[in-house]
Amino acid sequence: MRRFLTRLFIAGFGFALVGSCLPGSNVPVQTSGEPIVCITFDDAHPTVWTVAFPCMRSVDTNFRATHFCPMIFMDTNVNGTGVTLAHLKVMEAAGWETAGHTWHHPDLSALTPDSAEEEITSCYNYLVRNGLHHASFAYPMGNYNAAIQAQVAKLFPNIRTAHDYLYTDGVNRKDLGYFAVKGTHTTADIIDRVERARAVGSPLVIIGFHAVLTDSAPAISTYYSRESILRGFLQYLKQQQLPVMTIDSAMRVL
Ligand SMILES: [Zn+2]
Repeated sequence: MRRFLTRLFIAGFGFALVGSCLPGSNVPVQTSGEPIVCITFDDAHPTVWTVAFPCMRSVDTNFRATHFCPMIFMDTNVNGTGVTLAHLKVMEAAGWETAGHTWHHPDLSALTPDSAEEEITSCYNYLVRNGLHHASFAYPMGNYNAAIQAQVAKLFPNIRTAHDYLYTDGVNRKDLGYFAVKGTHTTADIIDRVERARAVGSPLVIIGFHAVLTDSAPAISTYYSRESILRGFLQYLKQQQLPVMTIDSAMRVL
């Protein structure tokens, strides 16, 4: 029910007081004030390091992001040279959060329980072993089921799905969502998603990028955005003085 109503909101159907009339086990959160904005990057694309990280730093050094990083895409990403462990450590030193996204980026819901466990545990151990954040996890391609959720929750307190929620009835840190930025989205489209969150009193909005290409780079077949689009969005966040933080930090506040 909650997801259905939330999706109506996302689709542009506005009606009041939805959050107040729905049952749920979510953690109560304040519904006044501005939403916390979390920016995420998925999949260790080389441009997370070469474009997105310096872009965010150049707009505001206090803007920190969460990077869902499958180890198989590091160093030798299918799209080129991926981020390295050294890059992750520099980004972490600047306040960014590295987060779990399995080792091989499989459809977890299609694996045997043992194989799924191996994917989840191996990436968790990599993060721990290398002194990186290890509090948040995203399902590859958003695919999961109840058993997978339970497996992930044993290791990671924060779990991001591929749904998009307004959190008008609270934030469940094991069932977070995000707005996935695609190549067709403009800066205005992304701002519109944040403005919808503000309009309904959302405590949280998560905006998710994958690759962030320079404006002159050729398009790619996977999810991407452009540097100028990201920069325009970040400038809006700064101008509006919205709080921007990692998922791990946001969950400590909410
Ligand atoms: Zn992914």
